[in-house]
Parts: sequence; C-alpha cells; structure tokens
Amino acid sequence: MKATIVGAGVIGVSWAGLMASRGLEVTVSDPAPDIEAQVRAGLAELVPALRELGLPAEGLDARLSFEADLATAVADTDVVQENGPERLDLKHKIWSTIEAAAPAHALFLTSTSGIPATEIATALQRPERLIVGHPFNPPHLIPLVEVVPGERTSAETVERAVEFYRSLGKKPIVLGKEVPGFVANRLQAAIFRECVHLVADGVVTEQQLDDVVTSSLGQRWAVSGPFLSFHLGGGAGGLPHFLEHLGPGLRKRWGQLGTPDLDEPTVALLSEQAAGFGGTVDELAKARDTAQIAVM
Ligand code: NAD
Repeated sequence: MKATIVGAGVIGVSWAGLMASRGLEVTVSDPAPDIEAQVRAGLAELVPALRELGLPAEGLDARLSFEADLATAVADTDVVQENGPERLDLKHKIWSTIEAAAPAHALFLTSTSGIPATEIATALQRPERLIVGHPFNPPHLIPLVEVVPGERTSAETVERAVEFYRSLGKKPIVLGKEVPGFVANRLQAAIFRECVHLVADGVVTEQQLDDVVTSSLGQRWAVSGPFLSFHLGGGAGGLPHFLEHLGPGLRKRWGQLGTPDLDEPTVALLSEQAAGFGGTVDELAKARDTAQIAVM
C-alpha cells in the first residue's frame, strides 16, 4: 500500500514514521528546500520510541521517498494524509491539486486541527472523498485519531478512514458533528481554563497543579474516562445514583469555575512559573517521551 504525506512538519514526520513502520511505502511531498534531511533526521529520532512500543523500526528510511511536485507525489497513491499549514486558502490549493492528480480510489485524509472538512471540501469536485483524521500529537505515539466527516463526506469514506487508522494501530473515534476544536482539544481548553484560573488566583503553582493532575486525574483517566469514572463513583446505582447524589454539588461548582483571560499580566505570570520546570524544553520533552512510552 502506498501513502503520501503532504506537509512534513511536526505532524507529517510523525505520521510518515508510523506509516513506514507499518509497512507502507511512503512518499513525502513538502516544498521546503531541505525537507529530506529534516524528515530523515526526524525519523531517526522516532526509531527508539517505535522500538519501545514493539513496532517494527527497521528499514524505515528505505520505505520513504521524496517528491516536491504534489501532483507527481499522489499520482499512484492509495491514501493521502495532508498536514500542510493550517490555512484554508492553502488547504484548498493543495486539495484541488491532489484531486486532479490522484487515482479515483485514493482515500483523502486531512490532519487539520480546526478547519471543518465541509469547508476544505468546497475546493473538490467530489467532496464525498475528504474526511478529517485529526491526530493527537505525536501521532506515532498517541492512539487517538478524531475522524470527522464533513456534511458531504460519504459513509464509505468514513468506513475506509476508520479501517485505515485501525490498520495503523490507532484508536479512531468518529464524531457525530463538526464542532470547533473537535473533542480532545475542547476538553483540553475547558480544563486549561480552570488551570489558568487556579494558578492566576494563587491557589496553586503550575508545578503543584501539574502534580495534582498527574497523581490523580491523569492516572485515572488513562484507564477510565470521566463518564465511566463517575458511573463507578455511584456504587451499585451507577451514574444515575452519582448524578442524583453528587450532581447538585457538581452543578453548583460549574457556577464557581473561573473565566480567566490570557492578558499580559496573566501570560507574564504563567511564563515566569514555567521556568520552574527546570531544564531545557528539549530535555523535558525527552524525559516526558520516555515516561509516556513507559506508561503506554
Ligand atoms: P508545521 O508548520 O510543523 O508543518 C507544516 C508543513 O507544511 C511544513 O513543513 C511546510 O513546509 C509544509 N508546507 C507548506 N506549504 C505546503 C504546501 N503547499 N504543500 C505541502 N506542504 C506544505 O505544522 P504542523 O504542526 O505539523 O501542522 C500541520 C497540520 O496538522 C495542521 O493542519 C495542524 O492543524 C494539524 N495538527 C497539528 C497538531 C500539532 O500539535 N502541531 C496536532 C494535530 C493536528
């Protein structure tokens, strides 16, 4: 099976590594002049993580080729995963070139974090072919892919996208509606709003807040999500009992949650406290990746 990775920045490199490790022949198309060196270096960094996860990590380089001309890059592909810049005009340009050159059977997937498939597909003759396959960064590690059909995406495209992501070992979740930010990023935004409020209000420091999360919600939610957790919290009566018993308190708390701004003083405070994490961002990211793989 042949895949084309269009746009090989942060997300594209990670998809390319995962797809190559799953045995796909991957063509990378990105107009950046030094893209091959960048992607091959990025790939070398992924290899230890793939090995730790028990995924094949040999011969990835040989399964990767580079073609700057987009039409040529998709001419005999089976699946396109587009990870270009998050701009509607560029996505329109990219996708109309892809549609004109790709085989009729090729699956069209976009990694966009926020532009609905309905809007991107206005550039296509056959909008039913396009669907959002939104990964949670980095796609070679984190299982979730939010599969978000546009208004005109066909049921066949949804089914093929789900099957494709499962074949990569991912956990595809099909959303029932296009909503801004999809689901995971909306949750992140909701929780982060309260995190900012608690730090800005002086209740906890950033480091304390992170400790609260990693030693409670983070561990729990890795095995049971918010709904199952509260279902179990309701004892034999399950979620109905939980909502009857603790729902009023929960509702009251909704009214007490903060609505902070990201104004200059707040950003300054958050930035100052972030220095307390110590080390360089690169060192912290490496430590985080090692711990993440151990958890997985
Ligand atoms: P990025 O800036 O790291 O990479 C974008 C790449 O696109 C660059 O390498 C650039 O050279 C290339 N590019 C520019 N013009 C192009 C063109 N005409 N054709 C092909 N490639 C072109 O961006 P990113 O963070 O990897 O994001 C890519 C997409 O993935 C965006 O749609 C973004 O919303 C989505 N996404 C990002 C994240 C994230 O955490 N970074 C997570 C999920 C989804």
